[in-house]
Amino acid sequence: MIKLSAIDKTYYRGDEAVKVLHGLSLDIPTGSFEALMGPSGSGKSTLLNLMAGLDRPSGGSIEIAGQRIDQLSESQLARWRADNVGFIFQSYNLLPVLSAVENVELPLLLTAVPARERRRRAETALRIVGLSERMHHYPRQLSGGQEQRVAIARAIVNDPKLLVCDEPTGDLDRNSADEVLRLLETLNKELHKTIVMVTHDPVAAERAGIVRRLEKGALA
Ligand code: ADP
Ligand code: ADP
Repeated sequence: MIKLSAIDKTYYRGDEAVKVLHGLSLDIPTGSFEALMGPSGSGKSTLLNLMAGLDRPSGGSIEIAGQRIDQLSESQLARWRADNVGFIFQSYNLLPVLSAVENVELPLLLTAVPARERRRRAETALRIVGLSERMHHYPRQLSGGQEQRVAIARAIVNDPKLLVCDEPTGDLDRNSADEVLRLLETLNKELHKTIVMVTHDPVAAERAGIVRRLEKGALA
């Protein structure tokens, strides 16, 4: 369970304070697949970043699987993220100088997992996303949909319980987008990943079990 209680978030730019989230409370049950929609600037990415431990709230509490992540120190939070959250972005964020399998191994470089085991896990993750045949390809040799599937393999290689996706289909054509959405659905249903996905795509939202709408920093 992800439990956000009375969350405030204010950004400071010089003297200017921009209040982005206002007393937002939200419970996301373990194992759900949720879409977060709303106008640009309504605070979707901010909310996603908070529940992924990438940023801290200005007020309120965030409890994930019984742990208050808003009370962790920076280094504890970094450790918590590495163990518990997989990140999927609109623009894939693959390193162009690394092959698909090397990109997928990256999160494991921060762990004590030995090289041979890293490779084995990366291969398994690539098999799960259906890209065993493209393991040694570089990002520029892959289609957008394939790049996103490599990014998804990278997100699951550490076996996190939570996947946060910020516009995962935003740069893809309809067919590739649908393929990525089917994959997310499989990860949710079969591997029991909790998935929270920011999206503007109504087709993507339809795949999710629950759709939440943000308006001006509060749930609509
Ligand atoms: P959405 O994802 O719904 O488009 P965001 O969470 O990205 O919304 O942004 C909400 C508001 O917060 C916007 O007005 C944006 O300009 C502002 N904002 C986001 N990140 C920062 C930041 N790091 N510093 C200052 N303002 C920010
Ligand atoms: P194998 O199935 O070959 O024993 P592992 O269990 O080592 O593979 O998993 C390798 C990687 O593939 C994991 O780190 C994980 O990201 C992904 N994976 C495999 N099985 C699962 C699973 N049941 N749930 C989530 N991720 C899995």
